[in-house]
Amino acid sequence: MKATHYDEVYDSYRGQIRRFALEKVAPFAATVDEDERPPLEAYEASLALGLPGLPFSEEFGGQDGDVISQIITVEELARVCASSATTVSTCWIMMLVQRFGSDEQKRKLIPPVVQGQQRSAWGLTEPKGGSDLMGVVASAKKTADGWLLNGTKRFITNGGWADWYLIFARTEPEKFGIFLVSKQDQGVSFGTPERKMGLRGSPTCDVILEDCLIPLDRVVGDPAKGGEYIRAGLLASRLKYAAHGLGIAQGALDEAVAYTQGREQFGRPVSDFQMIKGMVADMAMKVEAGRALLMHAATLVLNQEPGAKKYASMAKVTCTDAAMSVATDAVQLHGGYGYLKDYPVERMLRDAKITQIWEGTNQIQRLMIAKEVYAG
Ligand SMILES: Cc1cc2nc3c(=O)[nH]c(=O)nc-3n(C[C@H](O)[C@H](O)[C@H](O)COP(=O)(O)OP(=O)(O)OC[C@H]3O[C@@H](n4cnc5c(N)ncnc54)[C@H](O)[C@@H]3O)c2cc1C
Repeated sequence: MKATHYDEVYDSYRGQIRRFALEKVAPFAATVDEDERPPLEAYEASLALGLPGLPFSEEFGGQDGDVISQIITVEELARVCASSATTVSTCWIMMLVQRFGSDEQKRKLIPPVVQGQQRSAWGLTEPKGGSDLMGVVASAKKTADGWLLNGTKRFITNGGWADWYLIFARTEPEKFGIFLVSKQDQGVSFGTPERKMGLRGSPTCDVILEDCLIPLDRVVGDPAKGGEYIRAGLLASRLKYAAHGLGIAQGALDEAVAYTQGREQFGRPVSDFQMIKGMVADMAMKVEAGRALLMHAATLVLNQEPGAKKYASMAKVTCTDAAMSVATDAVQLHGGYGYLKDYPVERMLRDAKITQIWEGTNQIQRLMIAKEVYAG
């Protein structure tokens, strides 16, 4: 799919993903949360539509799906299951290899991810911190036998479940590289799976590197330019994380609208009460404002226009703050039932919180927005 702005082609694509999400993803959303296991059913079903390969070049079996089709996909999956949206889209981190890797790396690593034979993950965050990206202590030293990696990466999505890890490590005092570490490499181990508030269908754990020696050709591009590559990749991926929050917000709104029309108090559906209508209107405005900003940011990114970075951060904050606020109100509108696991809004509220924390916390995003605003 190739376009320079949002048009009706995307509406038809959205309809296709929406139907898929309702039929193949939604039925397992509560189970994967309850069992704290990867959403295998949704992931495997998504292969039929080629979703793990969506952004990759057709040359490698992908669909060449642009950033707008990527955010539509993430939004529609997260609308019914935030964990499934995370699992499918985390595979897209291999786009860093497509953009900056060698021909051999692309040929070897991308087709298995596209076909669902292998999965990927990325490791930036460390125990010492995630916000200060350039403070990483994990190191990669060049030796005659290969790159020697040491360090611990914390909170890694798909940790232990993925086959390939894109590890961000310090190569010189002020330089960083991205290294391709296989699950099978000597010196790689995984921490205990984290027990999380939400997003429980998405595995998270430490990736530990102890004298992990990998071949010299496992560095992505220039070992001194990893910081630049990550910053370039973050622009598109920030939109994806915004879409994830937006999907949760839209899903919670869907549930609240349906519930308030069916629930009666004082002899009338609670949706008849003005105070309920006001809440629903506010929720709908937050969702639509988030979507409008996200689409604007995506169009700027797609056309490589100035301001893309600022709008991507604005979209991330607006959509993920909407997720938290709308999911909280959706629970409120369910009364006591919203507090029970029997209703999806309970899970949606727990899932919403992470969206304000990861991919650059919303405080860090606000700092970046303010910097751009002051710069004029
Ligand atoms: C479920 C889950 C999945 C994740 N998946 C991945 C993954 O796949 N790969 C990966 O690399 N990481 C992943 N992360 C890590 C995530 O990106 C980090 O948790 C996040 O960037 C925040 O880092 P931190 O937890 O170290 O918080 P800290 O950086 O310690 O921040 C603590 C608090 O201080 C605030 N703060 C920090 N600096 C400033 C400042 N300058 N001004 C104002 N406020 C500030 C923060 O906003 C936050 O509120 C994941 C995390 C979770 C929980």
